[in-house]
Amino acid sequence: MKSHTRVVVIGGGVVGCSVLYHLTKFGWTDVVLLERSELTSGSTWHAAGGMHTINGDPNVAKLQKYTVELYKEIEEYSGQDIGLHMTSGLMLAATTERFDWMKSLLAKGKYAGGEATLISAQEAYEMMPLLDPKQFVGAVFDPHEGHLDPYGTTHAYAKSAKKNGAEIYLHTKVEDLVQLEDGTWRVITDKGEIRCEHVVNAAGLWAREVGRMVGLELPVLAMEHMYLITEDMPEVIDFNKTTGKELMHCVDFDGEIYIRQERNGMLMGTYEKDCRPWSPIETPWTFGHELLAEDLERITSELEIGFRHFPAFNNAGIKKIINGPFTFSPDGNPLVGPVRGMTNFWSACAVMAGFSQGGGVGLALANWIIDGDPGFDVFAMDVCRYGDYATLAYTNAKVRENYSRRFSIRYPNEELPGARPLLTTPIYDKLKAAGAVFGASYGLETPLWFAPEGVEDAFSWRRSTDFEAVGREAKVVRESVGLMETSGFAKYMVSGEGSRAWLDHMLACKLPEVGRMALAPMLNDAGKLIGDFTIANLDDEDFLIIGSGIAEDYHMRWFEQHLPDDGSVDIEALNLNLVGLSIAGPKSRDVIAKLTHLDVSDAALPFMAIREMDLGMAPVILGRVSYTGDLGYEIWMRPEYQRYVFDTLMEAGAEFGISLFGLRALNALRLEKSFGSWSREYRPLYGPLEAGLSRFVALKKEASFIGKQAALEEKLSGGTLRLRTFIVEAKDADVIGDEPISYNGEVRGWVTSGGFAHPSGVSVAIGYVPKEIADEIDGWGVEILGEILPARLQPLSLFDANGSRMRS
Ligand SMILES: Cc1cc2nc3c(=O)[nH]c(=O)nc-3n(C[C@H](O)[C@H](O)[C@H](O)COP(=O)(O)OP(=O)(O)OC[C@H]3O[C@@H](n4cnc5c(N)ncnc54)[C@H](O)[C@@H]3O)c2cc1C
Repeated sequence: MKSHTRVVVIGGGVVGCSVLYHLTKFGWTDVVLLERSELTSGSTWHAAGGMHTINGDPNVAKLQKYTVELYKEIEEYSGQDIGLHMTSGLMLAATTERFDWMKSLLAKGKYAGGEATLISAQEAYEMMPLLDPKQFVGAVFDPHEGHLDPYGTTHAYAKSAKKNGAEIYLHTKVEDLVQLEDGTWRVITDKGEIRCEHVVNAAGLWAREVGRMVGLELPVLAMEHMYLITEDMPEVIDFNKTTGKELMHCVDFDGEIYIRQERNGMLMGTYEKDCRPWSPIETPWTFGHELLAEDLERITSELEIGFRHFPAFNNAGIKKIINGPFTFSPDGNPLVGPVRGMTNFWSACAVMAGFSQGGGVGLALANWIIDGDPGFDVFAMDVCRYGDYATLAYTNAKVRENYSRRFSIRYPNEELPGARPLLTTPIYDKLKAAGAVFGASYGLETPLWFAPEGVEDAFSWRRSTDFEAVGREAKVVRESVGLMETSGFAKYMVSGEGSRAWLDHMLACKLPEVGRMALAPMLNDAGKLIGDFTIANLDDEDFLIIGSGIAEDYHMRWFEQHLPDDGSVDIEALNLNLVGLSIAGPKSRDVIAKLTHLDVSDAALPFMAIREMDLGMAPVILGRVSYTGDLGYEIWMRPEYQRYVFDTLMEAGAEFGISLFGLRALNALRLEKSFGSWSREYRPLYGPLEAGLSRFVALKKEASFIGKQAALEEKLSGGTLRLRTFIVEAKDADVIGDEPISYNGEVRGWVTSGGFAHPSGVSVAIGYVPKEIADEIDGWGVEILGEILPARLQPLSLFDANGSRMRS
């Protein structure tokens, strides 16, 4: 074994081998993979080998497409047969609700060049005669599906990597990992030690245990999973003979099963409701090339539906039952990327669909290791999308929920109940008593809307039971004053003598003067948006930064990676040690004025001013800013004051008719102002000019901030896209996000977010379109539930276009 190398990849499953291959493909050839047993000996060897490109997240779908397209390349390069069968596939819907869901899924794929199409149940039957068309209402046909040999595929990656110079040591178990002062790693194995710069945890079934070697508790859990293989079936042999083709893949969502041809018979697998975690606390190192005990009883109800939907199975004998474990994260997406707080420790685990996603994971991780950036928007897979709330028990509850819902519909307004409530703020019970319907965001219970007595959230693709109430909440803000909780935002305190200079380098904006706030885009080296914050200068050495709650770890990782070594800057994520309330609307100043002796007139406390002051008896930080686009205030306080401040504001606001509002009303209000939000309009896919944020990028400031050169280039070239707002002639449903935008009948862009802008009474879609046509008023269409609806460009914001309301 070598004594030194650049990268050690732990784990020779399909994912580890893909990472190894991609590193060598991009020129890093001094790399090593360590495997405790043989290649594929984790979950890879017993996989059903199915793969497809469709995914609910368009960015993940792109990586799946890349994975599927890669197979030819590695087969040719390595000379290893991977048993590729591109059979194409069907996704079957047995209810109209399911068909609506498929339409939305399909629409998402359109701008990414997805070639899947909607077909009738009869057409599906003609393609796949094993199904009973009477059981279905329709289907999606996807030409890019199939299956392959897991063993051959993993070896093809491994051989290709070796051909490029990588070394693979089998029967070499990593037992410990120690990082040295200089940042390099001692990888201690049962066969000796190897030193390296980077460690990749691709340990699959043991990824949690490898994480624990460095003090990490990764949110990953293995679940048992079963599929059966039938004896030869005459229907299959007949079909093969008469058509010269293999039977295609099917996912039957309502039966919660998938099927495909296996030799002259069929394979049927299921994601059962009565699911079982495997090794919930500790995965035994002694587990080898083994299967788990079969338990057909547990999947009987799913199989019954399967046999009804595919009647030929009733006459088939079962040849083999496979029950094996494989890993999931709480939301079912992989955990990829550098781990926050560690140097050069990389995660490539929880890859539930290794044959659909393994190539993309390898590509993104190799880019990230070599260039410091994944090269794509991989937030949906980023290991940093979870905070410390994702404990062992949380992961267990969420993974079980996710597994049992693998083929379930998730409605756009549906909040899943698993592992809740976990994080709550001091006013949680008060909000609940007022009818709050909560969603969980980054573990925190966050009010979405306030339901009148007897009204519940009914999950739907269309406008639902919350519609009227959300409309009322939004209108109260525009007409008088509303109050909402804002604790779910991320809050960072940056302090120290070097903080001003450091922030000037990290953020693209001009830093505000003491007592002022500014909107602060943050760019990566390529000039793409990796953050949009509000920064407040408290006293030139203390800066409060407010950002997206779900990106707290993601942003902290970036901040910490760039901190100077000399101790001159300190950054802290304040979590729920600082909580927030916000009041907004034309009467909000009157409410604040009742609670302080200070002058809060526009002259004394103008738009974007911030003060440390008392509100009644409570010390707070009060900023004059509101995401509603109205006159408004964000009020930050220690949690022990929140109940008092809440009661005090509600009491003071009573004479003005103050009312509570939630995130859904906030969405309606910000849409009227065309305000973008993180992870929708603002993501690492877009430059600030494209996103309409260039006025907040201080290209003329002296400091050379990260991404300045690229932002200058974007200004010169004009970028390629523009963010635009459209009014859609919607019927009973509004956009959700990712729908295609067409211009003169051709798909030219995509929706980032939208909804019904209640006070204006119109349906709004915000999205990106090519800059050449971005100022055309007419000719637009937006697809909602399979129907292309006419849309019109809204060049100015719908509400208060000159901003006088928030500024006066
Ligand atoms: C029954 C079943 C059916 C499936 N069907 C499909 C399917 O149709 N399509 C699909 O895409 N996916 C399917 N999967 C999932 C698929 O198997 C996984 O996505 C994939 O195997 C994950 O690969 P991996 O490389 O991350 O992990 P693993 O395959 O678990 O590989 C991890 C490797 O790391 C090694 N290792 C661990 N710790 C150490 C250490 N300390 N030192 C050295 N080596 C170590 C292990 O020995 C192992 O070889 C299925 C899974 C099951 C169980």
